[in-house]
Amino acid sequence: MTTVSAATADQPDRVSTRVSIALLGVRSDAPVRRTGGAGPSDDGHFVVDGDGAAIPLNPASPYVVTSQGRLTLEGADLGFDVSPVARPRFYDLATAEGVSYDRIAKLHGRNVLATTVVQTCVRYDESERCRFCAIQSSLDAGTTIAVKTPAMLAEVAEAAVRLDGVTHMVMTTGTSNGWDRGAKHLARCVRAVKAAVPSLEIQVQCEPPADLRAITDLYAAGARSIGIHVESMDDEVRRRWMPGKSRVSLDEYREAWREAVRVFGWNQVSTYLIVGMGEDESELVDAAAELIDMGVYPFVVPFRPLKGTLATDVDHVPAPHRAVLNRITARVAALLQAAGMRGEDQRAGCAACGACSVLKTAGA
Ligand code: SF4
Repeated sequence: MTTVSAATADQPDRVSTRVSIALLGVRSDAPVRRTGGAGPSDDGHFVVDGDGAAIPLNPASPYVVTSQGRLTLEGADLGFDVSPVARPRFYDLATAEGVSYDRIAKLHGRNVLATTVVQTCVRYDESERCRFCAIQSSLDAGTTIAVKTPAMLAEVAEAAVRLDGVTHMVMTTGTSNGWDRGAKHLARCVRAVKAAVPSLEIQVQCEPPADLRAITDLYAAGARSIGIHVESMDDEVRRRWMPGKSRVSLDEYREAWREAVRVFGWNQVSTYLIVGMGEDESELVDAAAELIDMGVYPFVVPFRPLKGTLATDVDHVPAPHRAVLNRITARVAALLQAAGMRGEDQRAGCAACGACSVLKTAGA
């Protein structure tokens, strides 16, 4: 077996391998994974060289995770330690009412507890829905419940910290009709979890609230990072991929990001930018530069086919080309490095976790 040692492999090769497995997946089992849900993936969760990584499980992938915990390609050891995240112990518990904890929150990566506090979205009608999102399919499959109460989340978070060493938590929400776009319930949930487990750092994720005071309310409740996710800053792409959400203008996003940076601080705010929705490569990098200037971390992730989404089931959109993701990751990582902005400096959340992006492997 040929070995390319981690010490001698140069960084671009490592980034390119990480890009390849993010898109082609690996042949492996993974006891921790989710099906459907909010956001861009239903990958298996692994630890790659000590960091969480969300990677598609693909029996046809040329990349194999061996039983010795190494990543190989056609028998050659690629110099990565890879192990599937073990099933957490809190998954075996249930509330007094009989709701199993894993229907309330899930383990992401190695140490992140993640939940969607309201699993429905006002934009879920087919003409409105974001085409990459499957927020209600896990609900339809019975693997989650529609609304998580603050008390439920406090109970699960306490157990996940005590039994499984979880260190931070992501709370996202489907969008509601109200002025707060879901932020009010999020704040109640944050408050309850912080009362039960004060040490647990929490990131909240929501659309720009119509009344920006909701951002201060989330901070006052105890959240220390916030994700306000635009996914694309190209209005044409937004209209095609997010017919409902694109009616929230980019200027509303900019106002919300600025207010969030004022309240949460520089590099405690993030947004997803998805590669593979037909965007112009340089415009995406320019958008990332604008975000970085504002103090917002652009969390660059590849689009990944996901059952239950319109993009996959109806449009049959493939994952982006590896070379494209490679180039964009390298260019955005260079901008982040120049600004001294690292995902792992966020107190909690997706940028802090990094599992769904290749930016961390690229040094950002
Ligand atoms: S990056 Fe975010 S969505 Fe991805 S595994 Fe980590 S916490 Fe979950």
